[in-house]
Amino acid sequence: MKAAVPITKMIKFDLITIFPESLQAYLDTSILKRAQEKGLVEIKVHNLRNWSQNKHKTVDDTPYGGGPGMVFMVEPIFNAIKELKKETAKVFLTSPKGEKLTQKKLTTFSEEKDAHYIILCGHYEGFDQRVHDNLVDYEFSIGDYVLSGGELPALVLVDGITRLIPGVLGNEQSLENESFTNDVLDFPQYTKPAKFNGWDVPEVLLSGNHKNIQEWREQQSLKDTKSKRPDMSK
Ligand code: SAH
Repeated sequence: MKAAVPITKMIKFDLITIFPESLQAYLDTSILKRAQEKGLVEIKVHNLRNWSQNKHKTVDDTPYGGGPGMVFMVEPIFNAIKELKKETAKVFLTSPKGEKLTQKKLTTFSEEKDAHYIILCGHYEGFDQRVHDNLVDYEFSIGDYVLSGGELPALVLVDGITRLIPGVLGNEQSLENESFTNDVLDFPQYTKPAKFNGWDVPEVLLSGNHKNIQEWREQQSLKDTKSKRPDMSK
């Protein structure tokens, strides 16, 4: 019988932006950096201007019907997607009008087979509606507020998905108790020193009694969830 071959998962991301440098520093740091080094994710940043049709490399124009601001043109986006989109790829668009991102969604995306996500980062007034209507598989928002660009939302998505890939976090157990994973918030954590400035670490955590510690943590989780996020306690 053949020995089982470990299934190694690799997720690909292509980020399309007019500010590539604003993404790179974050991608080259900490857990995302290590995940790339381990070959668990491949993250490429592309400058949308590479797909501009004119010599000034413009990718936006004024809105039809008038009004302030600039709108990303459909053609450069169309060309970028045409070049980058392979069979299993899905095109994600950052937009305050999109579906709000949740931990459940991130889990689904991290578990997708042959996952390849192309993420469009908008700016100014956003995208020509024909991009939304014809070129995109999923529009997501990171919350009910408006940012100046899609770069932070794109990083939120990449980070949130990447840390769920098996092998990315040093200690997979840290995923088990996290906020939202079990529909409750995480319990409070403390570290040394046990006494500082009159603020003491709860006795139970110093007791060495694992059963009591476990119980205390569960109670705190529930208490915090009830008071901070009553909407989750239903
Ligand atoms: N005029 C648009 C906002 C454009 S904001 C509106 O009112 O709906 C410019 C860009 O920032 C968007 O194209 C999107 O890429 C990004 N963006 C801003 N807020 C966001 C949010 N909450 N979630 C995801 N992307 C957002």
